[in-house]
Amino acid sequence: MNLKKKIHSVIFAGAGPGDPELITLKLVRHLKEAEVIITDRLVSDVILEKWVDPGALVLHAGKQRRMDGSTPQHIINELLIEYALQGKKVLRLKGGDVSIFSNLLDELQALNKYSISYEIIPGITAACGAAAYAGIPLTARNHAQALRILTLHKNETIQQPYWKELAETNDTLVFYMSGDTTDELVKQLLDHGIRSDRHIAVVEQATTPMQKVISAPIHNYESEFGNNIYTSPTLVIVGKVAGLHEELKWLPENGKEGEYYFKPVTKIKDREVRA
Ligand code: SAH
Repeated sequence: MNLKKKIHSVIFAGAGPGDPELITLKLVRHLKEAEVIITDRLVSDVILEKWVDPGALVLHAGKQRRMDGSTPQHIINELLIEYALQGKKVLRLKGGDVSIFSNLLDELQALNKYSISYEIIPGITAACGAAAYAGIPLTARNHAQALRILTLHKNETIQQPYWKELAETNDTLVFYMSGDTTDELVKQLLDHGIRSDRHIAVVEQATTPMQKVISAPIHNYESEFGNNIYTSPTLVIVGKVAGLHEELKWLPENGKEGEYYFKPVTKIKDREVRA
């Protein structure tokens, strides 16, 4: 008899930007089957409550919410390895898509070291979720020919020549993790001569019932919204297309009608992971 424990592939999946209906059928299957779920904090609780087996262990890796300490990456890696080697079906859930501004590389390399296999399931990244729910066609014809995915996080700097390029391009610019640095990024773009037909849209808590969008021609941003404090998570869209929001917006703004279709149905075992 073979007593060797079966090791399952670790499943990495994107849980979309917020609205719990914005996930794949493939993820739903894995949510139901998983025995251990290690989830980022941006993932909607409603998704976990709706689909996860009540017997599963849900570990919240304290990432991506400003007020909470974040779980060091090596601890997350260790948890993935530990539970996988115990023969558990492990699901690693990340907000949006797994490959956009997430430490996917680190986690995959950690598993590779132990020859643990994995599968990757894509999700709807915040840029696509925010653009859809704000009525902003990201590469609309005659408005933009390309989309750039960027961040102006406090640890990431953008060099001056690249600011110049960003100010001059026709491409739509999407900034992740830039809610706190929006004033700074607007200032850089203005200093580098961005044209007056460019708009900015800031989308807070996109695709959730709390979604809020502010938009303005970028040259008016400072007078209309300078020093604004945004509720995280926030996505910043800059380009001609951002000006289409006023014409194309469709989501009710008071939140009530936008409530989630799904309601929580199960109680789940929950545990915080901290260093
Ligand atoms: N992997 C994620 C991004 C993680 S980085 C994805 O593909 O979407 C976290 C950043 O994503 C946040 O700081 C914010 O800029 C953006 N973000 C994620 N969810 C968001 C939401 N519902 N509304 C607005 N921005 C969001």
